[in-house]
Amino acid sequence: MAEFWRFAGVGYFPKLTRDPAKAGTVAVQGVDLFQHVWALHMDYRMVPHPQVPGRKLRAALRTIPSLDPSPTFAAVTLENEGVAIYLPATEGELGAFRAEPPRREGYWRQTRAEDSQMPWPAPDPDWAGQATFLRALDDVERRADRFAYRGMSLCRLCGCRNGFEDLTFDLWTWPGGFRHYLADHHVRPSPAFEAFILAAAGAPPL
Ligand SMILES: [Zn+2]
Repeated sequence: MAEFWRFAGVGYFPKLTRDPAKAGTVAVQGVDLFQHVWALHMDYRMVPHPQVPGRKLRAALRTIPSLDPSPTFAAVTLENEGVAIYLPATEGELGAFRAEPPRREGYWRQTRAEDSQMPWPAPDPDWAGQATFLRALDDVERRADRFAYRGMSLCRLCGCRNGFEDLTFDLWTWPGGFRHYLADHHVRPSPAFEAFILAAAGAPPL
């Protein structure tokens, strides 16, 4: 299902902004979003950065529980403390673009036996491109956006403490601890993610 969104503006939370000159609001249906408390739904869309052409951002879907009906919007904090707001749109509307949830890599089920659609990390001793891929991954991870999540992830294979954040770059998201599975357990990424990272890093194909 195609989903369309449009950029609505950049606002600032008055209490979170050190520079009072950075006042700004985004109103939806007459409601100033920045005067209310937002709920987070752990659902995301990859949207274009409002100021940097070609750069994608992971915007979180939000609602305002104190309002009935609540507006639905997507929001992402920018480097300058501003919060970019995106609103649902219809195809063909001025400024409308197609936005999808991030493509996910390296999110495993909790235990091997768990009944879940999520994958389990499987070492692939025949993966010959490991070193090349890890160099490319390091390059992309230096340029990726990072989002801390609550708590610490443990490695499913050796139990070590393994990361506390998600990384996003272009249309993809993966955990910071994904690299450990590749480097220390010889787990091979999916073909789609492998191709994406190698291309993003400008590395030659394997
Ligand atoms: Zn491990």
